[in-house]
Amino acid sequence: MRTQIIVLHRYAYGDSSWIVRALSPELGVLSLLVKGAKSKNSRFKASIDPLVHSEIEIRYNRHKGNSFLIIPKEAFLQNYFPKMRSNLQSLATAQLMAEILLKLGNEKSHAAEEFKWLLNNLEYLELNTVKENSISLWLHKLCDILGYAPTLSKCGQCGRELLQGPADLWPALGGAVCKICLGERKSGYDPVFLQDIGNFANGKNTGQNSWQRIENFFLGHLRIHTGALDNLKSWEWLLEIRRLGNG
Ligand SMILES: [Zn+2]
Repeated sequence: MRTQIIVLHRYAYGDSSWIVRALSPELGVLSLLVKGAKSKNSRFKASIDPLVHSEIEIRYNRHKGNSFLIIPKEAFLQNYFPKMRSNLQSLATAQLMAEILLKLGNEKSHAAEEFKWLLNNLEYLELNTVKENSISLWLHKLCDILGYAPTLSKCGQCGRELLQGPADLWPALGGAVCKICLGERKSGYDPVFLQDIGNFANGKNTGQNSWQRIENFFLGHLRIHTGALDNLKSWEWLLEIRRLGNG
């Protein structure tokens, strides 16, 4: 069979081969064993590099424990995203997206939408420079794809519309809570951030300084619901690159 893939990660297997972890719209996150791929004469060349979009022809599947180890017969490079790679912040952004999808693992029911959303973003990063809200938008939609979208424009407790933004965010409730339901309790967030995340949820302009906190909120939200996103290396790297870029 043939399937499209986006390479999320790869690591050496023996002296000459790669194990390639890739997202396929039909098969979810797969493990490909690509024999002899490190050789100069390999027919796979760049088609299994990290973050490429390729199409692969699969010869057969082999069980290895619980997961399939797939041996691809051929791979056809669709897009190497060279411009995205030449911009450090765009590259780090794409790597964060890939690492998150890799850690979320093989959930076939969401794979088609995850693939489309990642490809869409890689294509965007190839044609444009990364925006400060790119990751927030990506994470928000990913929550939605996975069925964990936080309620932000309504109170999760009473359903009241939150025109002024939430009074607090309660992870166990799945998102925002209104002033009345918060009552005497103290909010865990400052009013500026709550207003900004309310604006973000309603598609309005958001304060320049809030993006990192909005990203953190969505990452925390995904972490709570999936239990899978600890130690995101590419997140640390992206923060480092931003610091360098702003310094
Ligand atoms: Zn309420």
